Amino acid sequence: MPYAVDWLDRRARLSPGATALVDAASGQRISYAEWNAAANRTARYLGKQLGVAKGDRVAVLAGNSVAYLDVWFACNKTGAILQNLNWRLAESELVQLIEDAAPTVLFYGADFVDAVTRLREAPGAKSVQHWVALDGAKVTGDPEITLRDVESAETPPLPRLTHDDPWVICYTGGTTGLPKGAILTHGNIAWNAINTQASWEITRDDTAILNAPLFHTGALNVFTAPLVHAGGCSVVCTGFDANQVFDLIESGGVNLFFGVPTMFSMLQEHPRWDTADFSPLKLVISGGAPCPMPVFERFWARGVDFKTGYGLTEAGPNTFWLPPEQVRGKPGAVGYPLFHVEVQLRETQTGEVVTAPDVTGELLIRGPHRTPGYWNRPDATAAAIDPDGWLHTGDLARFDGDGAYTIVGRLKDMFISGGENVYPAEIENVLHGHPEVADAAVFGVSDRTWGEVGCAVIVPVAGTALQARTLRPWLKERLARYKVPRRIEFVDALPTTGAGKIDKRRLQERFEDE
Ligand code: AMP
Repeated sequence: MPYAVDWLDRRARLSPGATALVDAASGQRISYAEWNAAANRTARYLGKQLGVAKGDRVAVLAGNSVAYLDVWFACNKTGAILQNLNWRLAESELVQLIEDAAPTVLFYGADFVDAVTRLREAPGAKSVQHWVALDGAKVTGDPEITLRDVESAETPPLPRLTHDDPWVICYTGGTTGLPKGAILTHGNIAWNAINTQASWEITRDDTAILNAPLFHTGALNVFTAPLVHAGGCSVVCTGFDANQVFDLIESGGVNLFFGVPTMFSMLQEHPRWDTADFSPLKLVISGGAPCPMPVFERFWARGVDFKTGYGLTEAGPNTFWLPPEQVRGKPGAVGYPLFHVEVQLRETQTGEVVTAPDVTGELLIRGPHRTPGYWNRPDATAAAIDPDGWLHTGDLARFDGDGAYTIVGRLKDMFISGGENVYPAEIENVLHGHPEVADAAVFGVSDRTWGEVGCAVIVPVAGTALQARTLRPWLKERLARYKVPRRIEFVDALPTTGAGKIDKRRLQERFEDE
């Protein structure tokens, strides 16, 4: 159980003048020394002004910004635990997460002033003692984080932290669908950064676009942490904007781009795609969802090394890597396990370990960046991590004669729309709460832009006249927009399997074709 160290401080000592972050909106460049000083001040602010101590939760409800990253590393320094809230959730969903982690502080961005006004009235959010504006606009009466009042930018007195202490709680549906907070410890995050940096050969000369949302593990732990380890640079964008991506690439401002397949499809449909100069790019990596082969081919046709990575929140997240020179020979493969990751395939029926190539099984993962479990959820932890320490991913994979893995499907009931995981069970639960819904099944159908979109097939209560246009706003009040099914269909009865379960496969085949 080694002790955790303040590794942003170490990086700042090794390369104080190197650019760590670029604020894409203002163009401001922030060196490692400056970032470390800002994180130190934020840590002092948390401790002195807000009384935050080791183990306390600190929530952030904000878009991407440099200040968000300061809070992340301030948590590393103080032992506070970051709860990076998904701002796309409906307010009732946010309240559930706040109630679960019970943060004492909630930092909010300027775009969330109205949401915060309502959230603070919710009984589920009563743990929050300090609502603090992170960047500018604020609710009347709330403080704004004022680092200039913090008298010292020296490293604050640090508590003793071990690699087993939690640093971030990242919410995910896991294999069962309902949101759970995967705990990522200091050790998980450090190991994932080391492992990703080493396996992906990220160097101090690399600059990556950071335009995935910081509420997702990918943005923190794939995009940013390995760059800190290497002494490279992250260009912090508020979100994905195709024009900005082309500008950054063409100006030579970035050479690495990690994204989800939807981002790449949007770039390829953009008018600038055909004439864009991609020569400054070293590598583009797609992750988070299966990526269609034509997307790869369009990058290759433009001379860009394009590959896919695979991971999941509970695994830290990064687990596989295929060297760029092998990508064309193994289309669609996610490659070999990273240096310090153990993987295993198990037959889904028998539970036997798969030892032969080309046999499909459930992918299991073990290693130093696997989560120790879910926050407050020993039941869910026991269901996901077996007594030998293997994390059951709910994903189906196989390996070829060289040992390179390909993800071929999912056991878990989930689809991915525009990079966001959507869990049908959660939507079906909400639908069953509608007085005119007798039964419902939700699943994903293919979509060219979003990868998949939701389709809800509903059996209305007899004698009612339920319509999609009245159901949709009702769902939007209760669910994040990306979870509200694009397609809503009505049927008299749902097909069932021999075992009496709803036969989603049949439904999917039917509505996929339509
Ligand atoms: P998350 O925990 O949000 O990172 O989502 C992880 C899940 O996304 C995995 O368990 C997979 O189901 C899916 N996923 C991630 N990367 C890939 C990939 N390259 N190919 C297919 N599915 C993926």
